[in-house]
Amino acid sequence: MNHHYDKIIRLLLPAAFLLPIAVCIILATRISLLENRIAGREAVEALGSRESRLVQLSWYDENVYPALEAGEVPSFAEGYEGADLAEYIPQDDGAPRDNVIASAEGLTYAADTESDGIHRVYLTFDDGPSIYTDDILDILAEYNVKATFFVVGRENTASYARYLRIVEEGHTLGMHSYSHVYNEIYASPESFAQDTQRIRSLLEDVTGQTPVFYRFPGGSSNDVSSTDMRELADYLESQGIIYFDWNVSSGDAGRVPLTSDQIVRNALSGIETRDTTVILFHDTAAKRATVYALPQIIEALQAMDNVEILPITYDTAVVHHDIGM
Ligand code: ZN
Repeated sequence: MNHHYDKIIRLLLPAAFLLPIAVCIILATRISLLENRIAGREAVEALGSRESRLVQLSWYDENVYPALEAGEVPSFAEGYEGADLAEYIPQDDGAPRDNVIASAEGLTYAADTESDGIHRVYLTFDDGPSIYTDDILDILAEYNVKATFFVVGRENTASYARYLRIVEEGHTLGMHSYSHVYNEIYASPESFAQDTQRIRSLLEDVTGQTPVFYRFPGGSSNDVSSTDMRELADYLESQGIIYFDWNVSSGDAGRVPLTSDQIVRNALSGIETRDTTVILFHDTAAKRATVYALPQIIEALQAMDNVEILPITYDTAVVHHDIGM
């Protein structure tokens, strides 16, 4: 009998120690999630009005990003952690492209299936949040337009606030990897999965919503991945994540910075020749011209017949580059 009690006590003792520890760990995790969310909210408040943000912005412009000579590459663009130099696709003059955006680069996208006469346009911003996210959001609000932000992982209160603002103002918050470091995320299927889970749980923690849309850094047709992109696409599908490429590049991530006018021309090329247009823009500290181009682009689109500007949702026709699926 004694021996029997001994056994029970021996079994119960570790549980009596471990259970409170486990509860503490779970509670601590919850507290840290809530703290993140509160920090984001406080930061939203701290950002203040559009006027005060613009003052901060002009300070940045003058002190951090001095005026460039024509064609000069800003020094901060070199090696900038969010730079997407591989995503630059030269644009032509806007002639219809027959489902091929740049055959020289081997990039194609799926043909639109059915047409209801509406040209749907999706403005997508990669690499944020940045010092320009709030200006982009202000412009979108001014024109009552919803867009899609494919963001990377940035763990500071200003970024938390921007993730939250994107969601709360009705835009789609998508993932663009946590680190955006090609040779890390594309090193193996495991490292890709790890990076994806990291950005997913960060956005979940901060916004309380699970992101379901993804854009591969460099696009699915990138030639920097040492892992088969089809395998990574399958992984996303297994996680219930839908990836989107683009079929129009604004060209705002080129080696040579474009003017706002050039970005406007690229973004608007061939809109009426497609049912679905997904335009690639960038939301980074190096992409001020994109912010200046945005109002013109939206006004031009809103003036076109049968054109709708929409955020990416489950209803959006998927635009993929050809990776031989
Ligand atoms: Zn990117």
